[in-house]
Amino acid sequence: LVVVENLCKGFEDGEVLNNINLTIEEGDLVSIIGPSGCGKSTLLRCLNCLEIMDRGRLTVCGHTLERDGSEKGYGKDTLMKAHEIRKEVGMVFQSFTLFPHKTVLENVMLAPMVVKGEDRDVAEARAVELLKKVGLGDRMNRYPSTLSGGQTQRAAIARALAMNPRVMLYDEPTSALDPELVGEVLQVMRDLDAEGMTQIIVTHEMRFAKDASDYVVFMDRGEIVEIEDGEILFSSPKNERTREFLRHLV
Ligand code: ATP
Ligand code: MG
Repeated sequence: LVVVENLCKGFEDGEVLNNINLTIEEGDLVSIIGPSGCGKSTLLRCLNCLEIMDRGRLTVCGHTLERDGSEKGYGKDTLMKAHEIRKEVGMVFQSFTLFPHKTVLENVMLAPMVVKGEDRDVAEARAVELLKKVGLGDRMNRYPSTLSGGQTQRAAIARALAMNPRVMLYDEPTSALDPELVGEVLQVMRDLDAEGMTQIIVTHEMRFAKDASDYVVFMDRGEIVEIEDGEILFSSPKNERTREFLRHLV
């Protein structure tokens, strides 16, 4: 469903992603781990074209964006492909990004109405369904400031799902949460996995990475160092850099 080939991305001060290759099948739940600054967020942002890679090929749900580094700026074709890809992908960030002046329900209804032109009652029915799914059926008319961090993140997931993405990306969705609220957010991702959603999660929750993922991607210094079943990666990592990283966790 997602194929990344030789993806490279740099900023003014140098290369951040160096020749990334990754294939994600429909229904996979993939965790990405690695030290701070290794490029995890940049990779996620490239996957949904919030950043556009410099070189390489990215295929998401049959839409292929390819760049060889010769293009100056972003041409029309590139931007159109990026737009097609973006429509297939939902994203949830670490920090809470709900609109504070709108209720939870309105937050979830907004994008389908504004971006897709959905009718209010259609958007509302779908939003209600999604909020029930993430366990917020009784909080729909609240304002974000009255929710716990865990509830806010679950609302953010519902809001992303409202656009019917085929792939969900999460950038440290539980890092800003009190420990007792982490589980409820991870549970939503487990539930979505059981329904067959394709999900890619940058996380520091090593137990979740190990238990819930189909496999774990370990990144270091802009490269994918190891892709491995969680059980195996955490018990007997093959690469010295993976071992070094895991050693520092405990
Ligand atoms: P963390 O675990 O701390 O979130 P990360 O693995 O997500 O780290 P990235 O945020 O992808 O790391 O950053 C990788 C590198 O790219 C860093 O050196 C960062 O400074 C650089 N970088 C990221 N975004 C930009 C940007 N918009 N402009 C310039 N440099 C950037
Ligand atoms: Mg990051």
